[in-house]
Amino acid sequence: MSRLYNFSAGPAILPEQVLVKAREEMLDWQGSGMSVMEMSHRGKEFMSIAAKAESDLRQLMAIPDNYKVLFLQGGASSQFAMIPMNLAVSKKQADYFNTGAWSKKAIAEAKRYCDVNVVWSGDSGNFSATPEEGDYQLNPDGAYVHYTPNETIGGVEFPYIPDCGNVPLVADMSSTILSRPIDVSRFGLIYAGAQKNIGPAGLTLVIIREDLISDAMDFTPSMFKYAIHAENDSMYNTPPTYAMYLAGLVFDSLLQQGGLQAMADINLRKASKLYAAIDGSSFYANPVEIKSRSWMNVPFTLADAELDKVFLQQAAAAGLVTLKGHRSVGGMRASIYNAMPEQGVDALIDFMQAFESQHA
Ligand SMILES: *Cc1c(COP(=O)(O)O)cnc(C)c1O
Repeated sequence: MSRLYNFSAGPAILPEQVLVKAREEMLDWQGSGMSVMEMSHRGKEFMSIAAKAESDLRQLMAIPDNYKVLFLQGGASSQFAMIPMNLAVSKKQADYFNTGAWSKKAIAEAKRYCDVNVVWSGDSGNFSATPEEGDYQLNPDGAYVHYTPNETIGGVEFPYIPDCGNVPLVADMSSTILSRPIDVSRFGLIYAGAQKNIGPAGLTLVIIREDLISDAMDFTPSMFKYAIHAENDSMYNTPPTYAMYLAGLVFDSLLQQGGLQAMADINLRKASKLYAAIDGSSFYANPVEIKSRSWMNVPFTLADAELDKVFLQQAAAAGLVTLKGHRSVGGMRASIYNAMPEQGVDALIDFMQAFESQHA
């Protein structure tokens, strides 16, 4: 068996020890005589898996008691609608930062349900930066403020958490959650599709402050109401059981590795050396302003785009795969989530340097 260094933005690489454990437990989970996939979501075995996943996540992220953790489906994309449907009921206006492709999608969807006020846009700078703190005017009476802490496609990341006063801050953390410690109490709602830094696709995590859970807009489908999922502890309908189990294995393995501060140290080191390799060469380039560079998604271009294809072919032959940039951006993108070992980043840098000396 040989595993590749998979730099995919999502679904993304998973920790090998998690996959090994899942394989061990595949046919017979801890003497239950069945696979987790085959269990009733209301049976005591699965209830124990779900409870441990939640408590491990609470410990990892130090989630305060007045926040509810929801294990949902529908991807981060469903949250683009669910957020306004649930949070913009009495106050109909919400503030949005536009820092790239995912912000734009969130904005377009929210516009169907509330008045969207775009407080800052990276449009004129080709989405290569985040706003300076205070370089925007938030509505103190808005329903919430939405932002995308890490833009997965552009590789643009906020180096700070915007201060919204008493207005709830809503964050699409799909590609940055668990990459480092964060102060959850700064947020009203955090959401993330699992397939980047949590686990397999099919699970969507929502962490919501309890006072924000209330009646949604009248037409809201039951499955889109936070209150329904919260009242039923994410078991209103069948949750994505196997994805929750795998996410639980990931949480457990992160705790064993020393938690999110340990991950932050490794992630910063991985990102710093990759950016240093890019900046230190005249062959590779990254367009993002230095302070807003993503720790998780590192886009880069080659001096000659004609060489992109050869680069990808030779990288794949060296065991480094899924480096092609998003179709909207071109070039390359290396996603270096928690599960990407530091050796994978080292191997990529070695390959890039060899390729440069061959072709520059
Ligand atoms: C991947 C991604 C999404 C979309 O997630 P789905 O689970 O596919 O709906 C939204 N926002 C960000 C920041 C992402 O990286």
